[in-house]
Amino acid sequence: MTRPAEWQHLKMLHLKRAFEKFMAGEPHLDELRESNRCELEALRASGIVERVEIQGCRDSCPACFAFAGREMNLTEALAKAPLPVQGCTHGNHEGWCRCEYLAIMAT
Ligand SMILES: [Zn+2]
Repeated sequence: MTRPAEWQHLKMLHLKRAFEKFMAGEPHLDELRESNRCELEALRASGIVERVEIQGCRDSCPACFAFAGREMNLTEALAKAPLPVQGCTHGNHEGWCRCEYLAIMAT
């Protein structure tokens, strides 16, 4: 099984590629989605996280603001891939969604 640190490394590689594409005005959402998936895989590989909450930013766009605070279990998040938020309008091109998964520990 892939370790959390390896998923985190993959996450950052995809995030970097997504940002380069975004800055170049190229489609970047697939890379950004893959980056968010790797984050979920890292959380799952940790073995201590059961659920996630979608965390927005103070200046989230309307699409992301409407989504912030939603909670789901890891299986659901991996199946639905809610990040990047569809219709995010942050930035100059198609949205640079900055929403993140907040880990909720199993208690
Ligand atoms: Zn947004």
